[in-house]
Amino acid sequence: MGMLSQAGAGLTTRPQEADVIVVNTCSFIESAQQESVDTILEMARYKNSGRARKLIVAGCLVERFRDEIRKRIPEVDAVVGTGELENILAAAGVAASPADSPFRILTSRAEGEARAAQGRFSRETWDGAVADLPNYLYDEATPRVLATPRHSAYIKIAEGCDHPCAFCIIPQLRGKFRSRRFESVVAEAERLARSGVHEITLIGQDTTCYGEDFGLKDGLAVLLEKLAAIEELRWVRFLYAYPNKINGRLLETIAANEKICSYIDVPLQHASPAVLKRMKRGAGTEVFLRSIEKMRRIIPDVTLRTTFVVGFPGETEKDFDELCDFVRAAEFDWMGAFGYSDQEGAAAFSLDQKLPPREIERRRKRLMQIQRGISRRRKKTWIGRQFELLLEGVSQESDLLLEGRTPMHAPEIDGKVFISDVPEDLEPKAGAFYQCEITEAHDYDVVARIL
Ligand code: SF4
Repeated sequence: MGMLSQAGAGLTTRPQEADVIVVNTCSFIESAQQESVDTILEMARYKNSGRARKLIVAGCLVERFRDEIRKRIPEVDAVVGTGELENILAAAGVAASPADSPFRILTSRAEGEARAAQGRFSRETWDGAVADLPNYLYDEATPRVLATPRHSAYIKIAEGCDHPCAFCIIPQLRGKFRSRRFESVVAEAERLARSGVHEITLIGQDTTCYGEDFGLKDGLAVLLEKLAAIEELRWVRFLYAYPNKINGRLLETIAANEKICSYIDVPLQHASPAVLKRMKRGAGTEVFLRSIEKMRRIIPDVTLRTTFVVGFPGETEKDFDELCDFVRAAEFDWMGAFGYSDQEGAAAFSLDQKLPPREIERRRKRLMQIQRGISRRRKKTWIGRQFELLLEGVSQESDLLLEGRTPMHAPEIDGKVFISDVPEDLEPKAGAFYQCEITEAHDYDVVARIL
């Protein structure tokens, strides 16, 4: 959006008004691929019947099904993969693509090279995929248009992933792990802060490896400290920690700094050591419980979120029971569960003992049901407590309610805080911070009053 806007294009979120429609896609699991295809087909109708002249498909689905998209959906005029962002200009017809892109980088870590030698990034079985892996990485000079409310922004600090998880094709879709330069991230955060952003969420497939590729020790902790020192910023958080990368230094940094939200999102994927071994991730219930205990000891008010994959090939009833017991013992604040999705190119694709989709769905629902009870109990303990609240504005669920988030709520993903009561002399403003008290709790959402 930034590049298009800088080149003179006007942006609209209404497809019926657009001359050029861009569909940005996901290809992580089957349901995401389906949603992407459905959206492309829906947008193709605007091209056939409306004013749109061009339909462009961008993102991960292009890396996976580059040729097939154009073959099967003739309305698509151009595709832009995850490493070709600057091509969006030529595709949209607003400017020619530079011959030699300034955005490419060539560094990678030893782990990335070693995994490449093992075939981790191979896309050979994917019909039409180009052999070159994406290696794009934006920097502070890349034009950006925020798609988030003015007061909140994501900053991507690293791209790609070198981990070998057997169910995952993200490394083939997004390339080897590479970090943005430290100064580049800080410069971008400072610019965003000056423009009115108060909350920054750092993202990457694995933020806990940040800086390793240029020899920075404890890169994420050092970066968080630096960002927390930016005066205008009030909340800084990071998403997606790799379990064995959460060390004491990172935890102590979070605990010591008020502006760094006491919030850790660590996708654990499973708890049974046998399943985790086959997933090529390792560890298990005991190691994870010890690690959670350490997080709660060092950061007493920490909010924990995790995600699991259920129904991995060969997952027995016993493995699943172990996962359920672990979820009961760990008591996460927030939890998500994906059903295993078979992806060609992932190591698990060739495994035997695939589970029937109905059984996978049964287990996913069961796990979510267990978490629902845990979530309800944990939310009840918040009643009567006071928290800082970032007011987001009128609730999407009802015009009669306001909605906000506390440091325990990451943008878009966690439950909601509905505001039922505001002091009479207060004119609440979206993007402002208030002190609130939780008055009511539901399974995932809570109700609060502004003090
Ligand atoms: S760490 Fe995450 S992105 Fe990387 S391979 Fe594993 S599941 Fe995929």
